[in-house]
Amino acid sequence: MVASKNHDGAHDHESEWGLCKACKWWQLEPEAHVENLTLGLCIDEELQPYNLRVSGLSGCNHFMAGKPARAKGSAEAPPTAKATR
Ligand code: SF4
Repeated sequence: MVASKNHDGAHDHESEWGLCKACKWWQLEPEAHVENLTLGLCIDEELQPYNLRVSGLSGCNHFMAGKPARAKGSAEAPPTAKATR
């Protein structure tokens, strides 16, 4: 299989669109459930500067399959948590 590149070729991982609720870059409050309307911080390295709060049904092409991270303050407006990975 050949690795795909984004249109600008700037990313070092494969471009794959997916939902935040299945993405390893989604960071939730410690006790939050993984659900469609749960809010959390996106900690993708390139998106971190935007302090982007997203719900389980949000998504983008930096998606990487995995379990969400956890940190207090991830769902505040604006999020106050630091990225944990
Ligand atoms: S915005 Fe993209 S990178 Fe961030 S958690 Fe959602 S799918 Fe993952």
